[in-house]
Amino acid sequence: MKSLTITKCNLIDYYRERINRFGWSEVLGISDTGYPRCLATGLADYARNDVLVMKYPAFLKNYYRRLVYHEFGHLMGLNHLKDRNDVMYPNFMRGNKGIEAIRDWFIIEWNFDIEDYL
Ligand SMILES: [Zn+2]
Repeated sequence: MKSLTITKCNLIDYYRERINRFGWSEVLGISDTGYPRCLATGLADYARNDVLVMKYPAFLKNYYRRLVYHEFGHLMGLNHLKDRNDVMYPNFMRGNKGIEAIRDWFIIEWNFDIEDYL
C-alpha cells in the first residue's frame, strides 16, 4: 500500500506544482461546481495518494484545517455536499461537520492521523 502524504507549498510553488502535475488546462478550467479551478487552494492527487495544499497564514488556521480535511475527504472517495456546514461543501467551507469521520477513517484505514500533518 502506498503511503499517504501531504505537500504544503507557498503560493508560487503551489501553482508551479499544480501545473507540473496536472497541466495548464487543470488550473485554467472550471470546477464541477462552476467556479474557476485556479481559485482552488488544495487538491487531492489520487495518483500519488497526496494532498497538495497552499500554506495559509496562521490566522486562517481553521479554514486551512477544513481545506486539508476537504481534500482528504476527496482522497477517500467523498463527493461535494450542499450542506454549508459540512467540510465537503465545495467552496469556502464554514463548518467542521464531517471532520471527525474523515479523521477516523484515515486512522483506521491508513494508520494516518491527519492532525499530525496539519
Ligand atoms: Zn472539493
